[in-house]
Amino acid sequence: MAKILIVDDSKLIAHVAKTMLTKKGHEVMLAQDGKAGLEAAKSGQPDIILLDLIMPVMDGYEVCQHLKEDETTQEIPIIMVTSKAETSDKVKGLQMGALDYVTKPFDEAELIARVNIHLKLRELYQEVQEQNILLQEMANRDGLTGLYNHRYFHEQLSQDFLRARRYHETISCVLLDIDFFKKFNDTYGHQTGDVVLRALAEVIERSIRESDLAARYGGEEFALIMYHTDKAAAIEAAERLRHMVESHEVKDNGNVLQVTISVGVATFPHETIHDAKELIEFADQALYKAKDNGRNRVEAHEG
Ligand SMILES: [Mg+2]
Repeated sequence: MAKILIVDDSKLIAHVAKTMLTKKGHEVMLAQDGKAGLEAAKSGQPDIILLDLIMPVMDGYEVCQHLKEDETTQEIPIIMVTSKAETSDKVKGLQMGALDYVTKPFDEAELIARVNIHLKLRELYQEVQEQNILLQEMANRDGLTGLYNHRYFHEQLSQDFLRARRYHETISCVLLDIDFFKKFNDTYGHQTGDVVLRALAEVIERSIRESDLAARYGGEEFALIMYHTDKAAAIEAAERLRHMVESHEVKDNGNVLQVTISVGVATFPHETIHDAKELIEFADQALYKAKDNGRNRVEAHEG
């Protein structure tokens, strides 16, 4: 069952097509001229458009052109309605973006078959589009934790930094590292290391705001971007996360693992920070300071 828009200045032709399509269970909208057709396409979002080429005022080619120029209608398949003699018109219509044509007077079986083919193609096309979006999303993610990956984090922070600089926004970068991570792998094996990484990713996702971005930065290192967040607020958020991790029991094969993190915070604007790279570097320096000062703590870039 699809929604089909018929744009035709002939009431008779439109009525015949409507009857054939309605019999097959389709919902049919009618428009009697080009202008009404464009409006119906925009507001009704049909799955397919049957478009008469020869109409007064605005002909089918012009309608086609407008449909293709408008983002909200350009993906809707168009089938031209032509009479037998108009061969060159068909070619012109196809060149302008129509996918197919049917000739008047309609052969019922042919009309239904062509409409069905294009509905099926549209469905397949939409599935491919969804798959592409999913693949793109997966390409940006870390396989183990489901957080964003290193590459995506850098791309995103570079863009975000430019925007923050242009619009005078505050932005904070947080780097964190699992304390003595090696001991989990050495004591219990790599599987346990993975359990710890996944558990930490979950705690991070629960602790951050929906608008913030979390990524797995490297082996046992994670990175966050906090938007519109000044230094004090970033330290507070980092401290809250550190505490959540410390009080979260990670269970693995009957073992309860105590996980802690060291955290470094850097915030822009700051006189020593001129680009995204420096923002990350200073967060990294703060992280090292947190480790030097005994781990399981938060340090911020002082500049
Ligand atoms: Mg006509």
